[in-house]
Amino acid sequence: MRRSSVRAVCFDLDGTLFDDRQYARAGLCSAAEELRRRTGVDLTEEFLRAYFRDGHREATFDVVLSEAGLADDHVPALVSAYHDNDAPLVPYPDAEATLERLERTYHIGVITGGTNGREKLSRLGLDDRVDEVIVTAERADSKRSPEPFVEMAKRFGVPETTMAFVGDRPALDFPQPNGLGMLTVRLMRGRYADAVARNAAAPDVAVSSLDDIPGIVTPFDEQLEQP
Ligand SMILES: [Mg+2]
Repeated sequence: MRRSSVRAVCFDLDGTLFDDRQYARAGLCSAAEELRRRTGVDLTEEFLRAYFRDGHREATFDVVLSEAGLADDHVPALVSAYHDNDAPLVPYPDAEATLERLERTYHIGVITGGTNGREKLSRLGLDDRVDEVIVTAERADSKRSPEPFVEMAKRFGVPETTMAFVGDRPALDFPQPNGLGMLTVRLMRGRYADAVARNAAAPDVAVSSLDDIPGIVTPFDEQLEQP
């Protein structure tokens, strides 16, 4: 059985500490504002509809601009506006209190693949609650490789087997931490709540609220256990 005694609790960011649809909504509105400034045309509703209703998560701007008969040379500026805006983001209601409880006892890390992970944390007001952040996109790396998890353990100076990883997307978030003997905790929330998690992607524990996490980890005790 995997130990639940840990020294560090690490989190995925998008969909785990906040509802990442907010980031998309704020980005799409910012891009629409940039397009309006450049062309006088307001496609806010069209961007939101294409992304959220029609499922165009990639190439959203190309699709909508083409439908509207506008040139695609606006796309790079819209992509920049999407990512560079600084509209505040709101964490899940249980995120801050959970981090506050955990940080008294454990190292707190975030491992995210999402673009602008550091900016997101600061827009969420959570940057002070997190000791170490690894943004895999900055390292030409991904959570599909063990590297970011091994690197986080190294930064904290603890064995991987004394770290927990909390995520919302089993296929991406758990195979590597499971392979390294970390405690894996699935938050059953958001767009992957119904995803089937089998074999290597199966978490050790599933929770419906971040509030449950302090109750399932216990501090590693040097006296009782050797890593
Ligand atoms: Mg996620």
